[in-house]
Parts: sequence; structure tokens; C-alpha cells
Amino acid sequence: MENQNEKPLSEKPARVKLLRQLWIVLFSGAILATLFTTWTPLGLIPFGLGDSFGDVFSPNDGSDGQFLPTPTPRPRPRIGIVSGHYQFDSGAVCEDGTNLQEVDINFSIADRVRANLISEGFDVDLLGEKDDRLPQYRALALVSIHADSCAFINNQATGFKVAAALATSHLDNANRLVACLTSRYMEATKLNFHAGSVTEDMTSYHAFNEIHNQTAAAIIEVGFMNLDRQLLTQNPDLVAEGITQGILCYIRNEDASLPDAE
Ligand SMILES: [Zn+2]
Repeated sequence: MENQNEKPLSEKPARVKLLRQLWIVLFSGAILATLFTTWTPLGLIPFGLGDSFGDVFSPNDGSDGQFLPTPTPRPRPRIGIVSGHYQFDSGAVCEDGTNLQEVDINFSIADRVRANLISEGFDVDLLGEKDDRLPQYRALALVSIHADSCAFINNQATGFKVAAALATSHLDNANRLVACLTSRYMEATKLNFHAGSVTEDMTSYHAFNEIHNQTAAAIIEVGFMNLDRQLLTQNPDLVAEGITQGILCYIRNEDASLPDAE
């Protein structure tokens, strides 16, 4: 009996011990599970906020389009330069064995004017004599560059000429463009204005009747290919600088009075 009594006595505490251990395991398991859920990083962020952060930092997929506006480049003001006879014919030709052609003189100058104006912040169209872009062409100004005859006329056949597009609806602008070109070209090159030979070919120049009537336009004869040849062929930078400064004078509304005679 002692043994029989002992047995249940020893069995009962063992069962209670097992139950207590089971409860501890289950209870700690529940607590740990709760803790882990709570301490997960996303578990700390209030509901919905995580999604909002995602919207702010995700790259713009174009679905809303409002976050990062695409900058539109500001258009640069436009100037047209016609390189006389370019892509059309030779213009005047020297028949003194040099075969010097007006079209080449004009282009070497026009190309330099274009580069100068681009570096001043303008968009420049370098146009051919009968360019497809001339009809209704719109720009702040259009200047056509030509050179005068190579034939020896007399000792007075030296100097430059500038004429305006008389067909323009803003003749005051065209006249100011002429005044500016005359002033600055004379200052740069020291050539005289050869007023006597401004011809109807210049004032009724074909391009003047094609362009938009709000585009101020002028034609310049940069010098004679005979007596002014050295300047035109040896110093095109100076020639181009005179034209560039004339155009800038017009666009910037500078004083266009003639340089003082020396
Ligand atoms: Zn010409």
C-alpha cells in the first residue's frame, strides 16, 4: 500500500507541472508573436501612411504629371542672314585672271556674321539667295549681304551701300536698321558710304517682297570687289564685325549716329 499511495502522490504533481509548462509555452508564444508584429518596421507606420511615402518618392511615371514640370527652353530671338547669290549663282566675277567670285566673298562674311550673332545669344538662319524659307519669313531682322562689281569703273568706285526694304509695313524700323548698319559698318571698316550708286535693284530686292511684312530688312553692299578687294578678302572678320554691330545696334535700340569724320 505504501507503494500504491506513493504512486498517485508522485503522479499528480507531475501532471500539474506539465500543464503549467504547456501554459507557459503557449503564453510566451502569444506574447512574442504580438511583440514581433508590433516591432516590424512597417507595423509602426500608421495605416496608409506607408503608401503615401511611396507616392512621394517613387519616380514620376507620368500618371499624375504634376510633380516635376519639364522645363521648356525659351526660344532665342531669330535673325536672318542672306548670303548673296548663295545656292543660286556666282554674282559678280572678276575677269582679271583671279576668277574671284562675289558669292564666295559674301559667304565668308555671312558665315562670320552668323557665328558672331549666335555667340550673342541669337538663333541665326543663314539663307540662300532664293531660299525656300524666305516666303513670309519672320525674324527680328533680315540682312542680305552682297558685294559690288569687280570691274574698274573709276577711282570713286569704292565704299559700301545699305538700302532698306521699302515694302515693309514698318518703314521706320527698316530705316533705323539701315542707319545702324551704316553707322557701325563705317566705324569698323572706315569705308565711305557710296550713296550715288544705291540702285533700284537694292531697294526692290526680291527677298524684300517675299518675307513677312513685319520683318525689318536691309541689303548691304559691303564694298567693291576691285578697289576694296583687300578689305573684303583679307579682312572678312572686320567686315563681319561691322555688320554684326549694325544688327545689334538695331535690335538693342542703340544710337545710330554716324561716327565722327577723322
Ligand atoms: Zn550681288
